[in-house]
Amino acid sequence: MSNAILTSSQYQNYRHIDLVVIHCSATRCTRSYTVDDCRRDHRNQGFADIGYHYYITRDGVVHAGRPLYTEGAHAQGYNRYSIGICYEGGLDIRGRPADTRTPQQKDTLHRLLQRLKEDYPQARVVGHRDLPGVRKACPCFEVNGDICI
Ligand SMILES: [Zn+2]
Repeated sequence: MSNAILTSSQYQNYRHIDLVVIHCSATRCTRSYTVDDCRRDHRNQGFADIGYHYYITRDGVVHAGRPLYTEGAHAQGYNRYSIGICYEGGLDIRGRPADTRTPQQKDTLHRLLQRLKEDYPQARVVGHRDLPGVRKACPCFEVNGDICI
């Protein structure tokens, strides 16, 4: 996988999307958690595949998760009409919630959201914790509109 995902229109999606939900992998900044690790863990939890549609590793590479036309498994009650994006990290060296995004991850997230806003102009971008009833720190940074413009 490569960042070509950001520039080519290589997918078709017939699902209605009104939400883009951002997550962190809840991984300490000193540890690695690859897209394969994530996929394996989600499968072990009984999911058919990785729960997210995109996974952004520390090097800024965006990896394909579930196809966009498939419902994700990342935000209970909101999977049907949403796209899930996860970045590797979210915990500091002691395991506390922290915005550990690298400059590369920030840049990739920005570009990915720009692209998704073109395809789904009606979609709102939120952090997982911004959804009603969610009591988590995920994605460990404040998601506001400006990161998607
Ligand atoms: Zn989350």
